[in-house]
Amino acid sequence: MSDGFVLWFTGLSGSGKTTLAKAVEAALIDRGIHDVQRLDGDIVRQDLTRDLGFSKEDRDENIRRITFVAELLSNNGVATMCSFISPYRNARANARARCRNFIEVFADCPLETLVDRDPKGLYKKALAGEITGFTGVDDPYEAPEAPEIVVHTERESVEQSTQKILAYLEEHDHIDVSDALSGVAPSAPTGLVNRIAATPENLPSPNGPAVTLSSAQLCELDAIACGLYSPLTGFMSETDYRHVVDSMRLSDGTVWAVPVVLPVSAEVFDQVKHGMILALRGEDDEMYGLLEVKDAFSRDREAEAKAVYGTTDREHPGVARLMSEPETVVGGDIHLLRRAPIAAHPRNMDPSETRRAFAERGWKTVVAFQTRNPIHRAHEYLQKCALEIVDGLFINPLIGDTKQGDIPADIRMACYETLLSAYYPADRTVLGTFPIPMRYAGPREAIHHAICRRNYGCTHIIIGRDHAGVGSYYGTYDAQEIFDRFAPGELGITPLKFEHAFFCTACGQMVSRKTCPHDKADHVFLSGTKVRELLSEGKDLPPEFTRPEVAEVLKKAYEGTGGQGTGGERG
Ligand SMILES: [Zn+2]
Repeated sequence: MSDGFVLWFTGLSGSGKTTLAKAVEAALIDRGIHDVQRLDGDIVRQDLTRDLGFSKEDRDENIRRITFVAELLSNNGVATMCSFISPYRNARANARARCRNFIEVFADCPLETLVDRDPKGLYKKALAGEITGFTGVDDPYEAPEAPEIVVHTERESVEQSTQKILAYLEEHDHIDVSDALSGVAPSAPTGLVNRIAATPENLPSPNGPAVTLSSAQLCELDAIACGLYSPLTGFMSETDYRHVVDSMRLSDGTVWAVPVVLPVSAEVFDQVKHGMILALRGEDDEMYGLLEVKDAFSRDREAEAKAVYGTTDREHPGVARLMSEPETVVGGDIHLLRRAPIAAHPRNMDPSETRRAFAERGWKTVVAFQTRNPIHRAHEYLQKCALEIVDGLFINPLIGDTKQGDIPADIRMACYETLLSAYYPADRTVLGTFPIPMRYAGPREAIHHAICRRNYGCTHIIIGRDHAGVGSYYGTYDAQEIFDRFAPGELGITPLKFEHAFFCTACGQMVSRKTCPHDKADHVFLSGTKVRELLSEGKDLPPEFTRPEVAEVLKKAYEGTGGQGTGGERG
């Protein structure tokens, strides 16, 4: 447990205050301290200080208001992080006098280094006289005389500075040393959310602008409602959104890896108010649900792309989708009035149904297999290796939106139906569709996929190399290693990490690099390109690579689609 305190980061523009505040915030949450609130310019400008400019009076007023909020938070036991240039000693002294457990952190960085770094070119402009009143150039910065902590951001890594701050907090009993050791992380939620309206006539009528959802957003609305996205009960509020982007957790500390937000046009954004009821419509103009507005906010899509996808490259399909959406979003709980078309798939099962199906079969342990590609022998091998150690296998092909070039969902499902009837024990296998869109967010999406499968009632999930990856944006093992960042029990599901598999003619069986000593000449491995080439020439795929029954389905489909890809090897 932490007592309330205020970490007040001061320093020149670009000295690394906010980066460090975010890192400390994430470290505290990692230790199971969830009453954490960060205040920085981007956060307070939205509401608290948007009327203020840059005069000395306005700067003092800015800090005075922030001090007031920090005082309230720390009095209520919240670990509060403020990162502001806060150039004037008097203003900081006032904050110190008012806030309990005030800890001044001076981000010390020489001006020359800042001028060198200068990512926004602000120092250059200030030095050239193009902007005036710039702290450290033609406006004073009064460095702290006796700060509790000094971090030298020009020579310390963020990790080193973070450790220094955590050590101070431990030493002064603001946080427990045991927090780091006792596995205080919250355990995974086990209940299922149900936001499918049972008595729609009792719901309030919409009294605000209607919002039209894309097919991907409609899938997510349905996923929230049927419990697949438990514990989410709606589209994220600003607090949850920021926590998820910054630290992969909701504001209460529960692990959640990807933002689930509802983008709206600027016109809608300007009209919405807290408590308003919005009608959620599909592109077919049917009304699918209602949203009770909790808040509306602007998000920094560049920062979101960087945090979630690890890149801002518009060539990345997830980033491209994000950038095509408005930056304005609304958050709030939802009610579902009509199931999304994707839930009408004959193989669709809601989490309550899969949990029942697994229980009926007497399965205590169930492994999930995520895929967006046709099934080849390699996938079959991984599934059956996993099935050797658990009770049941849940094959869960993703059928939401995928990128151009991925093979259509109905063909992939046909491959599975064919393969299951010929090669899988019926009493050990359940096949169900996974009704959400691909984000291609690699490691973060692997966590998201795992959380959804936990909600289905699975205890394990197969995570292959470059799970949910695309192009070369992620390291081969990133999606496996990210699981190590969470304490056991936090996710409620265990990853089974697999290598690529292939047939070895010398071994005479399916193998991986872990189990076969032979070299490439003995391995039957076909690239996606080679598979496409063989299919387009009407040739057979080698039976060591693809079961003949599956190859038949693909060949027919290939003739039909006129040469679309059959996808690579990633799940
Ligand atoms: Zn071999």
